[in-house]
Amino acid sequence: MTLLTFRFAPSPNGELHLGHAYSALLNQKLAMHTGGRLLLRVEDIDTTRCTPEFEAGMFADLKWLGLGWEEPVRRQSEHFADYEAVLERLIREELVYPAFMSRGEIRAFIADSERRGRDWPRDPDGVPFYPSADKALPVKERKRRIAENAPFAWRLDIGAAMARAGKDLTWAEFTDETLSATRPVEARPQDWGDVIVARRDIPTSYHLAVVIDDALQRVSHVVRGQDLFSATGVQRLLQEILGLPRPVYFHHRLILGPDGRKLSKSLRDTGLAALREAGASPDDVRKLVGL
Ligand code: GLU
Repeated sequence: MTLLTFRFAPSPNGELHLGHAYSALLNQKLAMHTGGRLLLRVEDIDTTRCTPEFEAGMFADLKWLGLGWEEPVRRQSEHFADYEAVLERLIREELVYPAFMSRGEIRAFIADSERRGRDWPRDPDGVPFYPSADKALPVKERKRRIAENAPFAWRLDIGAAMARAGKDLTWAEFTDETLSATRPVEARPQDWGDVIVARRDIPTSYHLAVVIDDALQRVSHVVRGQDLFSATGVQRLLQEILGLPRPVYFHHRLILGPDGRKLSKSLRDTGLAALREAGASPDDVRKLVGL
């Protein structure tokens, strides 16, 4: 029998809060109950916002909580070569294109289109789709701009990728925390438009690194917050076009702040370090998150 593998994959770009505690402890509980493995992955591709201090704080908080994980921990910033190799393949297969428009240019393009009465599509986060004009740029022009050091991001050609993917773009989603049953969910990557899969200076993005790492680390069960539910559609598409295995998913409830809003890393009061300093115990944290 193959072991089930769970992972907790925080980004060290702020302090961990109760929402992270719930996610980490739920993964731990499920790994324990199923006799599975628990991995910790440091998602620090954003080298400007992620710092060694936040990472050290994250490890301290998780140890204090009583989380145990396998060593060595995978730190994404140490594996850019892995992501670059996959990116090269996507470039060769013409599934990505360099997108040169700046934020200002995108805004102006959309405003112009909306003035002419056209509703501009937005992704589930409310971000307008990238205008597809760059997709038509001749290869020579792309090369010229890249050689001139023009800023750009590699975007997935969502239409081409969906045409390439197999027909089955569903995933199995557990219906509750006990992981006793799943329901099929239809992935809708098209709702995100041409997402960014890599930057000029960083050969990956959140979506690309997550699917590559989940596959490399043989993660069988992705248990993470409900806020990532629709992003799973993009990740399923990447798995299909890259021929990667398909994990099963559980997108858990979010822990909300006293005002009913989603917790954020900038709200220090629900941060684990602040709770610990105020005298809370790991058991108090478990109770607070309902575990
Ligand atoms: N690194 C992501 C975050 O901190 C989570 C990624 C995932 O669980 O897939 O929000």
